Amino acid sequence: MARQRNIDSRLFELQWLGFDASQVVPQGRDEFGQFVAVGVRARCSQCAVVHINGLACHETGCPNAAAAQRREQEAEVLDEV
Ligand SMILES: [Zn+2]
Repeated sequence: MARQRNIDSRLFELQWLGFDASQVVPQGRDEFGQFVAVGVRARCSQCAVVHINGLACHETGCPNAAAAQRREQEAEVLDEV
């Protein structure tokens, strides 16, 4: 299902960016009244996440943000090799 794949990739992206406590949240019900997962909420275990223009941001000095930045830099180095 394409929608489920989008949710999975969005969750993976948020976790990569250091939002380690992100969750899939039910936001609607199907025709049987069952919750269907249609959203992902950015959450961080080390800070209060702020959304600016729809973009999730860590607080200044958040250790998860620093770790995510290091991962990003390492990935860039690997891309150059
Ligand atoms: Zn954070």
